[in-house]
Amino acid sequence: MVNRLSPTQHSIVEKRICKKARDILHRLERADHEAYLVGGAVRDLLLNHSPKDFDIATSAHPEEVKKIFPSCRLIGRRFRLAHIHYGREYLEVATFRAPHNESESGKTSEKGRIINDNVYGSMEEDALRRDFTINALFYDIQTGDVVDHADGIDDLEKREIRLIGDPETRYREDPVRMLRAIRFAIKLDFTIEATTEKPIYELGHLLKDIAPARLFDETLKLFHSGNALKTFRMLRQYDLFQYLFPQTEDSLLREENEDFLTFIETALKNTDKRIRSNFSVTPAFLFAVMLWDKTLEGFERYRSDGQPEYQSMQLSASDVIGLQAKSTAVPRRFSNVSRDIWLLQARFRRKDCRAVFSFIEHKRFRAAYDFFCLRARSGHLPVEDCEWWTEFQTLTHDEQMEACQEFAAPKRRSNRRRKRK
Ligand code: ATP
Ligand code: MG
Repeated sequence: MVNRLSPTQHSIVEKRICKKARDILHRLERADHEAYLVGGAVRDLLLNHSPKDFDIATSAHPEEVKKIFPSCRLIGRRFRLAHIHYGREYLEVATFRAPHNESESGKTSEKGRIINDNVYGSMEEDALRRDFTINALFYDIQTGDVVDHADGIDDLEKREIRLIGDPETRYREDPVRMLRAIRFAIKLDFTIEATTEKPIYELGHLLKDIAPARLFDETLKLFHSGNALKTFRMLRQYDLFQYLFPQTEDSLLREENEDFLTFIETALKNTDKRIRSNFSVTPAFLFAVMLWDKTLEGFERYRSDGQPEYQSMQLSASDVIGLQAKSTAVPRRFSNVSRDIWLLQARFRRKDCRAVFSFIEHKRFRAAYDFFCLRARSGHLPVEDCEWWTEFQTLTHDEQMEACQEFAAPKRRSNRRRKRK
């Protein structure tokens, strides 16, 4: 049953909605379409948080939206959407959709997964095909009402994450909802309601069928939200972590591997701190951390097979990155950086001036150094090793010369240089 909250019954003030979204809503309504602010923005405004983006749902079909807004681009096949562009930014306008199983053109796979979701419907139908009750609220800019078809207001008050409809069916339709439940529970500091929570323990394996590129996107949302440590622990608690990082979970399950857990947790704490201080973070570092144990293991195997040090690291990195791509597809521009971080670890051992000066100019020095010190801080290396490099970077050029001169360059090289002269 629909529940309408009038402006005096809720805390949304129109001014907190971005100007562009307000403009789009008004223009759609002037063209005789229904249009609402929807999803995360309504939820966040009601909770007094700042929304990340302002999504709009409308009765207008994508082609009709395009006619009203010249800067509109239609995207997506499985889920056709209108993007209205403002320079490099855009707002998303989606046509109301019906539940997938109500019509011929909405298709599900044998396992119940939605594969085609372009069946247009009414506002109520659109509300009910959304994932969680708190994500199914609509805001009507004309009347200022919040429209609630799924008891989302109740759950916002109870601070609960609850799936709309039968939880198991909804997870089977889209297993990523399991990850989303955890993401929202952490982001909003809500609990996952019991019937929504229970099936997660049994259905995690469905994530194996999700496209690795989508899982990569979800992984970033999960780990680059400022709550990576909490997320990591919760994903493991629900037994979902293994589907994002199978090799990492395998390393962690080896009993003697407490150190690796400390290493990951120290890294995630650090990521959270960086995000909260508005410093940049890169997926390359996250993946370098998560896959380090397996990379080292492979490295040692290649070494004992007689491969040289550098090649051993190269080969192992390729194996590990290749295997990871089967669950979460890390784009090459990131995995190449993870690989560099690993390969550069050996260079921290060389402290002669020639090596040091070229190394600190390396474009990946900073990331490799952060990784190296993380290893030291988690007890994998003597802390003094990291301290030497930390201090070195604070010295003047003359002091740096002095600091590295005690580590003579390897003999073979200085001989060669003398000969050339
Ligand atoms: P965030 O603040 O993290 O962006 P959000 O609620 O806006 O949160 P989005 O992923 O941007 O989340 O999705 C927008 C809306 O689309 C959601 O609020 C929800 O209503 C709907 N939605 C997104 N993903 C799904 C899904 N897998 N199944 C059903 N509905 C979904
Ligand atoms: Mg959003």
